[in-house]
Amino acid sequence: MIPGDYDKLWDESRDEAPFANSDEGYGWMAANCDTCIHDKPARQGDEGNGCPLLLLSLVGRRPAQWLDGPRDEHGRYSRAGQYHCVEYRHEDDGPSEPQPIPDPPGQLGLVPREGYEGVRMLLRPNPAELGVS
Ligand code: SF4
Repeated sequence: MIPGDYDKLWDESRDEAPFANSDEGYGWMAANCDTCIHDKPARQGDEGNGCPLLLLSLVGRRPAQWLDGPRDEHGRYSRAGQYHCVEYRHEDDGPSEPQPIPDPPGQLGLVPREGYEGVRMLLRPNPAELGVS
C-alpha cells in the first residue's frame, strides 16, 4: 500500500459505510490500528501521513483491504474482529511493505509482477457453514 495513493485506494473501495456508528468504528480501530505501522505517524502527531484506509472509512467508504472477519451462525461478529485488514503490520514487525523475493540475477521472470499485485476481496470461510467447530 502506498500511503499517498488515495485515488487508487478510493477506486478499489466500496461505497458503503463500514461501521454502523462511531462507537463500533473506534472500537475496531482501537483493536487493530492502534498498533499498526501504517497509522504510527498519526499516533505521533503527524495526521497528514496517517493510514489512508482510515481516512476512507471516515468518509463512508469501505476499503477493499478490509475483509469480513469471522461470523457466527447468526452473522454476529466481535467488535475487534468485524474486519480483517490485509495491510495490518505490527509496528514492531519490521518493514511496512512486503519484501518479495527478487528474480534471480541473469534470469527473466516468466510473468511480470506489475498488474498482478492487487488486493483480492476474499471472504473467510464461515466455520458454522462448513460444519467445523
Ligand atoms: S493498514 Fe489497516 S490496520 Fe493498519 S492502520 Fe490502516 S486500516 Fe488500520
